[in-house]
Amino acid sequence: MNRPKLSPPQPSGTIEQLPMGPSTRSGHLIDVSSGMRTFRPVIDAEKCVNCLRCFLVCPDGTIDKSGDILEIDYDYCKGCGVCAKACKVEAITMIKEADA
Ligand code: SF4
Ligand code: SF4
Repeated sequence: MNRPKLSPPQPSGTIEQLPMGPSTRSGHLIDVSSGMRTFRPVIDAEKCVNCLRCFLVCPDGTIDKSGDILEIDYDYCKGCGVCAKACKVEAITMIKEADA
């Protein structure tokens, strides 16, 4: 059988050793996925120290860092909360969609 070869697992190291890019490129999604969101992440620009952890870990590449402040594309953010968990200074709050 033509199976791909598995390589041994690599030690994870620290975040500084990881490639500094998002897991996926912003804009790769073609279907709006906001309908599945019950909570939305909101970035507090006053607290944000621009470490880009959220940008790095967002599984859908919905955080845009091209401007002066980070912006979340709410058309494609699914509200998973990974960015809020990753933020060390608690600059991202998950807010109920009904209250947003
Ligand atoms: S909630 Fe999930 S999909 Fe939305 S910006 Fe954060 S990490 Fe990305
Ligand atoms: S993880 Fe938090 S502090 Fe870092 S860039 Fe994102 S919002 Fe800002």
